[in-house]
Amino acid sequence: MSVLIFAELEEGAIKKSSLEAIYYGSKVAEQTGTTATALVLGEANADELAKAGRFGATRVLHASDAQLNEGNALAYASVVAEAASQEKADVIVLAKSSLADSLAARLAGKLKAGLAANVIELPDLSSGFRVKRSIFTGKAFAVTELTADQKILTIKKNTITPEETDASATVETFNPALNASDFAVKVTNTEKASGDILLPEADRVVSAGRGLKGPENWGIVEDLAKALHAATACSKPVSDLDWRPHHEHVGQTGIKISPNLYIACGISGAIQHLAGVNSSKVIVVINKDPEAPFFKSADYGIVGDVFDVLPRLTKAVQEL
Ligand code: FAD
Repeated sequence: MSVLIFAELEEGAIKKSSLEAIYYGSKVAEQTGTTATALVLGEANADELAKAGRFGATRVLHASDAQLNEGNALAYASVVAEAASQEKADVIVLAKSSLADSLAARLAGKLKAGLAANVIELPDLSSGFRVKRSIFTGKAFAVTELTADQKILTIKKNTITPEETDASATVETFNPALNASDFAVKVTNTEKASGDILLPEADRVVSAGRGLKGPENWGIVEDLAKALHAATACSKPVSDLDWRPHHEHVGQTGIKISPNLYIACGISGAIQHLAGVNSSKVIVVINKDPEAPFFKSADYGIVGDVFDVLPRLTKAVQEL
């Protein structure tokens, strides 16, 4: 009996959301009186593997085969299933991501395990194994009971605030039995869709809508994003108009994000937009219309013209 956590890498580093998942898994292990083991697939250096220990794993299994460097759900499903069987893992934890969505579903099929996606709290073990999940793009919650022997949970980003300690984990090499059929689908090339800070992983996001009037005005959005070390995002009409690339579009039909800080500039706050951003920890809204619906969801609101407010805000941040 144990908890196995799949730790996803991004350019050789464990993703922040996966460190949260490791911490979450260690808390489930505490609840169930077992241990938490992190599984890292692909090349990663010793410092990265040590991080898993500092966030709660007691052991780290590392399959360093370079074939596993690219996120490949087919191959990963075989490897995670093998590790789960070796570890007799009854709970498998993954951080929610597009790779994890595909991997978790394949894994559930392979292991005949119960799968709960988008989990937002530690399990309630008082009666069976129940988890609370965010559903309908954050508009509702569901409590789901998992009755299968093996349970797979994908954890929504920012569900839990992990504590980093100076604990260390035992690192063990894991040599999975890979075969050609595991690589029936191959990633042949990857290209970064945005700048240095990836939107789905970003802690801070500066987002803008039609209130910016045109693509030529995005400099003031990028300046604030740069000052805050934030990623940039946009509303759907903005990407439909080709003012910004589609991968920046957030909302019901775009990327769903939950950064610690979301600054919405000249965005009305339509329900379809909110569906992708309403689980951000702190929402700041800048809009010249005091009646803009977004203000109802804001932690902080600035009624003003973006062309006046944004440069002043950027200057203030730069001076901090
Ligand atoms: P607008 O609604 O035009 O709002 C512009 C805002 O800027 C206004 O509030 C205005 O007061 C303010 N403003 C104007 N000038 C200034 C200024 N100088 N300074 C400050 N404020 C200013 N939308 C999404 O974003 N994401 C989605 O995923 C999405 N999915 C959809 C799915 C469906 C099925 C449908 C029907 C719609 C979807 N939409 C989505 C569209 C959504 O309904 C809204 O139309 C859209 O979010 C509005 O974008 P906006 O706020 O940028 O533009």
